[in-house]
Amino acid sequence: MKLAIVGAGVAGSYLGNRLQAEGHQVEVFEASKKDSHWPVCAWGASKNMLEIFSKNAGLDFEDYVLHRGNKLKMDLPDNKIEYLELKGLVTYDKYRWEQDLCKGLRINYGFHCTPESAFLSKYDYVIDCTGLHRSLLPRSPEDFIIPSYEYLVENVDEVEEFYVMGYKGARGYFWFFPLGNGRAYMGAGDIDRRYFGISEFFEKNPHAKVLKKIGRPIRLSPPKRMLPFSYDNIIGVGESIGCVFPMLGEGIIPSLICCNIFIEVLNKDSKFDTKLYEKKILKKFGYYDDVYRIVRMKMDGKLSSIKHFKLLMSMYRNMKRDEKRFGFGIDFEQMNRLLKAL
Ligand SMILES: Cc1cc2nc3c(=O)[nH]c(=O)nc-3n(C[C@H](O)[C@H](O)[C@H](O)COP(=O)(O)OP(=O)(O)OC[C@H]3O[C@@H](n4cnc5c(N)ncnc54)[C@H](O)[C@@H]3O)c2cc1C
Repeated sequence: MKLAIVGAGVAGSYLGNRLQAEGHQVEVFEASKKDSHWPVCAWGASKNMLEIFSKNAGLDFEDYVLHRGNKLKMDLPDNKIEYLELKGLVTYDKYRWEQDLCKGLRINYGFHCTPESAFLSKYDYVIDCTGLHRSLLPRSPEDFIIPSYEYLVENVDEVEEFYVMGYKGARGYFWFFPLGNGRAYMGAGDIDRRYFGISEFFEKNPHAKVLKKIGRPIRLSPPKRMLPFSYDNIIGVGESIGCVFPMLGEGIIPSLICCNIFIEVLNKDSKFDTKLYEKKILKKFGYYDDVYRIVRMKMDGKLSSIKHFKLLMSMYRNMKRDEKRFGFGIDFEQMNRLLKAL
C-alpha cells in the first residue's frame, strides 16, 4: 500500500521501518527540521520489551543502553521513602535508536501537516503519529494532559540511580533518569505547575550544565477516551490515540505495542479494518482506563481504598501480569503504601 506517516517520533519511525520492510510504499512527514529534531522524553523504558521491538526492526538493543537501573528511590510526602526493585528499567539513546530505524526511509523534514494538507490525499492511508499534537484526527472532549518540562544536564555528581519524588495527591512527580557519564534527564510533570524538585536539584548540583531545556505536556487520557482512532483515510497510532500509561505518563512501550496492532490489522486484509483496530486497541489497553480513573480520583481527593478496592485490585493484577513490560517489581503492599502516602 501507499502509506504516509505523519510524525517521526517513536511510533512513526518504528512503524515506517516495519512497514517498508514488509513491502509497503512508505513516506514520512516530520514537522521539525532535520537538525533540530529531538525526541522529547526522558528516555526510560523496559529493556525486556525494547529488545524484542529492536530485534523486529533489525537492531540490537544492547547498542543503545545508556544506564541499567537497579533500584529506584522514591521520596514521598511526609518524609516517607520507598525503593522500587528494578527488573529491566534502563535509559537508552532514543535519538540514535529512532535515527537508525529511519535509515533507508523517505523522510520529509520541516513538513507541518494539517487535515488540509492536500498532498496527503494521494496515499491509501495517512497515519497520524503526531503524539500529543494529534494533528490530523478530530479533538477528543475527554483529552487530559499534564504540563511538564525537563532538562538534559551533564556534569552531575550527586545521584547515580533512577530517582523520583511523588507529589501530594498524585498531582505530579519529579524525575531524575541517569544517562551515564554524568549526564541525566531531570524534570517534572505537575498539574499545578509548581515542579518541586527542579530548583532543589540545581542547588544540590551547582556544577550541573544544562544542555537542553524542553517543555511539552504529557497525555494521560487512555485510548478509551481518545476516540475516534480514525477519520476518512487517517488512522492514529501511538500517543495520538492515548497509548500512554496514565499513572506514569510512560508512552514508549504502549506506542510500540500500538504499532504492532496496527501492522497486524493492516496485513489482514486489502482494506484496513478500522473497527477491528479499534476493538483490538480498546482490548489491549482496556485496563489503562481503570488506572486513569484511579489517578484522576486520587488527584481530586476522591479515592478510597475500601470503596474502590475492586478497581485497585484490577490495576494491581494487570500491572503484575505486565511486570516485565514495566521493568520494575509490582508489589501489592507497596502499591497500597504508595497510594496512602501520596
Ligand atoms: C518530558 C517528557 C518525558 C517523557 N519521558 C518518558 C519516558 O522516560 N519513558 C516513556 O516511556 N515515555 C516518556 N514520555 C512519553 C513519551 O515520550 C511519548 O508518549 C512517546 O514519545 C509518544 O510517541 P509518539 O511516536 O506517539 O509521539 P512522539 O514521540 O511525540 O512523536 C511525534 C512526532 O510528530 C511530530 N509532529 C507533531 N505534529 C506534527 C505535524 N502536524 N506534522 C508533522 N509532524 C508532526 C513531532 O515533531 C514528533 O517528532 C515522556 C514525555 C515527555 C513530554
